Formats: sequence, C-alpha cells, structure tokens
Amino acid sequence: MGEPSGAASRFPGTGHHPGLWCPVFLLALRHKAIRLSASGNDGGKLSRLLNESTTNPGVYAVATVMLSLHLGCLGVFYTGVSTPAIVVLVIMYFGRGLGITAGYHRLLAHRSFKTGRVVQFGFALAGCLAMEGGPLWWVSHHRSHHRDTETDKDIHSPKTQGFWKSHMGWMMTNDAFKESGTNTRDLYRFPELKFLQRNYIWIVLLQIAGLYALGAGLDVLNPEWGTSGAQLVVWGFFISTVMLWHATFMVNSVCHTWGSRDYDTDDASTNNMFVGIVALGEGWHNNHHQFPLSARHGLRWWQFDLTWLVLRAMSRVGLVSDLRLPKSREVRT
Ligand SMILES: [Zn+2]
Ligand SMILES: [Zn+2]
Repeated sequence: MGEPSGAASRFPGTGHHPGLWCPVFLLALRHKAIRLSASGNDGGKLSRLLNESTTNPGVYAVATVMLSLHLGCLGVFYTGVSTPAIVVLVIMYFGRGLGITAGYHRLLAHRSFKTGRVVQFGFALAGCLAMEGGPLWWVSHHRSHHRDTETDKDIHSPKTQGFWKSHMGWMMTNDAFKESGTNTRDLYRFPELKFLQRNYIWIVLLQIAGLYALGAGLDVLNPEWGTSGAQLVVWGFFISTVMLWHATFMVNSVCHTWGSRDYDTDDASTNNMFVGIVALGEGWHNNHHQFPLSARHGLRWWQFDLTWLVLRAMSRVGLVSDLRLPKSREVRT
C-alpha cells in the first residue's frame, strides 16, 4: 500500500489505514514494483511513483471500487430478478442502513443511547457490511463534520467544497485518508471495533460470498424460484449498497443544500423529507445539528424517523436504554 500519510494517518491499535478500501489492488502494485526492481527493471520507478505520488493511491482504489459497484448494478440485465432477490434487497438495505444510522451514527459517533457490547458489535458489524468504511474511520470523519461544519476543514460541506464533492467526491481525495483518529479515542477500549476496522474489507468480501452461496443454494433447493448466486449478489450487494450509499451521501450533500430549517443553527443544515425517508430518519439533519446528542432526529410528529422507531422498540424490550432526547421546551412543535 502507499504509506499515504505516514503513521499519523493510521488509527492507533488497528494497524490499518482507515480508508483502505482495496488492499489487494495496492498490494499487487507494490509487489510488482519490488519484483521489477529486483530484476533490474524500472520497478524502482513504479515504487517511487507509489511513494512520491501527490495523489494517495487509495484515492484510485476508492474510485475504482465506487465505479465498479455502480457498474455491477447493470448485472441485473444478466441475472434478472426474483421474489427472493427483492426480499434480500430489502433486508440488506434496511439491516445495513440501521447499522449506519443507529450504529455508526447515533451510537458510536454521538453516544445517543446506551447498550451492551453484543448489541453494539451487531450494529457496528451491520455498518461494516454497508461498505461505508470501518467504524473508526466513519466516526472520525463524522465528528470532524460536526466540529468544523461549513468551514474549509469540513471536507464534505457543499458550501465550501461544492455539491459533487460533498456527495461522494470527498472520499476520492487525499483528505479522506488524513483523519488521525484522535477524536475516536473513546472507542479504542473496544477491541471488537478495532477488529472490524482492521478486517473491514474481508468482512465485505465474506458478505458477497455469503450472498452468492445463498442464491446458489436456493437455486438447488427451489429452482422454480428462478434465483441464482449471481442474482443475489447483484440485488443484495451491488444494487442495495449503491442505493444505501446515495441515501447516506445525500445527508451530507442534499441536507446542507435543500430543505427547510426549524432551527437557526450556525450552518446550512436542512430538514429534507425525501432524505428523511430513504436515509431512515437521517434527513432531519437541521434538527440533528441543533441537537446532535438526540437519539431522535425526526422531532415533529410527521417527521418520519425509522431509526428512532426501531431504537424505541428495542428499548421497550431492554436491548438499548437511556435514549437521549432534547428537553421538550427546546423542541419546536
Ligand atoms: Zn451535517
Ligand atoms: Zn451526527
């Protein structure tokens, strides 16, 4: 890999670069450079390029992965669709979406509620499967967003960076690889989170293999359902992940550009109903910037917040507790 920003860019204790999305690709390049160099060819030049490049090689890896997943959705023309494929799509969208919204965001980044280590690990694992980066990397960037909102340091502000960069371009810049992780030290006491950060790529790959095996198994057991391994990978991974990506990305881009504002916050955050629905409640982003510690983002009765409804149901059966809410006199109704 490219040793992009030195030791400071790593999350202590994980031994892994936070934004390392495609280690195989980078390791292959490095291996080729060493091999060519040893044989007297210009591998040294390739090696120097990897070391001295002003663009972090991880940027190319992220761009390649993002493009590949979008193109992978076209596989639907080859695999077709079936009822099990749609069921898997829905489960993967909502299950992994809650991993991001309830797990990465409201639990790990903001500590909006309390829960045990097992449930926390379950949420974080579901977040990992959504392929939005490991938990420590995601939380670090998100906390920076709240600290530096709409300043030059906010690398996904549409006001300072432009809409496209705030939506997904920021992950394809060197800045995405520079988080030191110093703002996530409170999470280092959980070795299971470091494990997820370190093994994030392999967890994602295992998920793809699992979907393929499920589809192939169903094809053997019930061929009349018309499913296949490739079909479940296309619907359960490619399409589901790309949909979830853009739902999440819109919180950064759309919800700092279009929508209404219930609170006069020191930023451009907005409440956007469309994003509120597709991002499972995260689109009530102006409310969130006003009350970042609240476990509930949709504060008016009509502001649908699926993540809040799930958390409230989980609290009733004792899986989570101490759901934090703003004081009622502070909330506009
Ligand atoms: Zn924001
Ligand atoms: Zn937040």
